[in-house]
Amino acid sequence: TRTYVVTGSASGIGATTAQLLRDRGDRVIGIDLKGADVEADLSTPQGRADAAAAAIEIAGGTVDAVIACAGISAPIAKTISVNYFGVTELLEALLPALAKSDAPRAAVVSSMASLQPNSPEMVEAALAGDEAKAVEIAEGLAAQGPEIGYAVYPSSKRALARWVRRESITPAWAGAHIPLNAVAPGTVVTPMTAPLLATEEGRAMVDAAVPMPLNSHQPPESIANLLIWLTSVENTHMAGQVIYDDGGADATLRGDDI
Ligand code: NAD
Repeated sequence: TRTYVVTGSASGIGATTAQLLRDRGDRVIGIDLKGADVEADLSTPQGRADAAAAAIEIAGGTVDAVIACAGISAPIAKTISVNYFGVTELLEALLPALAKSDAPRAAVVSSMASLQPNSPEMVEAALAGDEAKAVEIAEGLAAQGPEIGYAVYPSSKRALARWVRRESITPAWAGAHIPLNAVAPGTVVTPMTAPLLATEEGRAMVDAAVPMPLNSHQPPESIANLLIWLTSVENTHMAGQVIYDDGGADATLRGDDI
């Protein structure tokens, strides 16, 4: 039995991942705003620290894997705090508990959206660990309305993907034998996308931005199963990858540009 910490465990991809792990006999410590083993707000530094401390206590000191799914897509400044700092700071706080495992692993959820127009300044501020500056830039975008404010989401996911590539090969992660990877989904049918997918106009917008020639919109299981493999004992050498599990959206949009 392995002990997993899963964030965003109350809904969508995180809930499906937690259920699949529990079904196969693994132990899951879920973190979410509500309806989880650890109820915490990952948008704040205190919330992240409290969540990590509570999860480590429940785990008994050793965590075998972390799967970070919690995220929001709203065109508001909080999106950079939850999607970037709520993942990176939590993972860093859990590192000592991961290091005690025989086969520690971590995986996070980025997005196809990381390829969409974003704010390089916000990405750089996030990667520099400057949450106040990243939030200030995000507030500036959000103040210009939802269309411009949307860029906070792709910026948060681009920063997260770059953080994974950079951190995965450092002494803290690779040096401690901890594979760290990201999954970039296409359009997953969850409560996050339900309002958009409910209307023909919304579907047309989503499908234009994220064309999925293979099997169209995906169930959360398609992402959960990959997250579970990435954090399994079997993954010994995959590190620093951003894996597009997206019905062919990345291949369609980027083509040969890899
Ligand atoms: P969801 O809304 O169903 O689940 C997200 C969960 O995160 C919720 O339970 C929510 O309460 C939790 N959460 C939000 N803010 C939080 C906070 N401050 N503290 C703690 N928990 C918080 O969404 P989902 O579709 O399952 O998304 C999971 C991840 O996948 C997100 O990071 C999302 O950006 C990413 N993603 C989703 C899609 C998609 O099409 N659904 C595509 C690409 C990437």
